[in-house]
Amino acid sequence: RRQALQTYRDVPAQTQDGHHVGLLANVGNLNEITHVKDEGADGIGLFRTEFMLMNTSTLPDEKAQYNLYCEALHALDGKTFTIRTLDIGADKELPCLCQNIEDNPALGQRGVRYTLAHPELFKTQLRAILRAANHGPIRLMFPMVNQVEELDEIFKLIAECQDALEEEEKGYGELSYGIVVETPAAVLNLASMLPRLDFVSIGTNDLTQYAMAADRTNPQLTKDYPSLSPAILHLINMTITQAKATGVTVSLCGELASSPQMAPLLVGMGLDELSVNLSSLLEVKAAICQGELAKFSELAHTAMQQNRISDLQQCITNYK
Ligand code: PEP
Ligand code: MG
Repeated sequence: RRQALQTYRDVPAQTQDGHHVGLLANVGNLNEITHVKDEGADGIGLFRTEFMLMNTSTLPDEKAQYNLYCEALHALDGKTFTIRTLDIGADKELPCLCQNIEDNPALGQRGVRYTLAHPELFKTQLRAILRAANHGPIRLMFPMVNQVEELDEIFKLIAECQDALEEEEKGYGELSYGIVVETPAAVLNLASMLPRLDFVSIGTNDLTQYAMAADRTNPQLTKDYPSLSPAILHLINMTITQAKATGVTVSLCGELASSPQMAPLLVGMGLDELSVNLSSLLEVKAAICQGELAKFSELAHTAMQQNRISDLQQCITNYK
């Protein structure tokens, strides 16, 4: 089976009727990055940079981060490279940085809320990324953004970093900017944010948690934290429709995209890109290559009319 899948390694993720989908990888360390090309991915759709903090008590300094991002660029050799800025907090517990004790960490200081509250830490990462972008294209995305004021703050810090780098005569490159759409507020506030963005990536792991008010890590809530439900489908559809209307690239990087059974539905809904775990990349690519966009769209249309999780599941299992 593994061997049969290998035939998809060097072909683009393209349906029988010629519709191309960007198929990217989710990675969490430099070692995985070196495998991205071997696995036949178009690049990286989500680089979870908080791994840098997993086993240490301090964040690597600017130079060390710069070297890391440059190494990744080198390994990717021009393929898409999407970095997510530090996503600290909630389910991502780290031994360092003196996270505050909070009653509800998932609703607490996490994602950009944390990094905006710790601008020195944030700027170190931003400077390293800006400098690395001098050596290759980088897309930068921000986790847990709810509304446009946060973008104002982020872009102000970026401008400060650019001014400082210029003064220090250190080179830096232009970045493409995006957010992880992972709260219902982000979906509802998208219209005000899209004009400032080049792409968005739907983070269904957190989007499901926040839309269903169900802890993604609580094993007792598997029924209340379904991998797909009518509400989530609706939120995904709202995001895609708005992004498309403004010409902003729209991806999906949650676990949902790593399931080959979901690929026909997700592509049919109009996503430009899927970002998936390396281990399921070829299976997802096979699912895309074996189908037709016309059929995928039909499935999406039917799926979006379902009111029950069970009927939605049925639609997906019945497909083919
Ligand atoms: C998500 O929330 O869907 C996501 C991709 O990010 P993470 O699982 O790292 O929170
Ligand atoms: Mg998330």
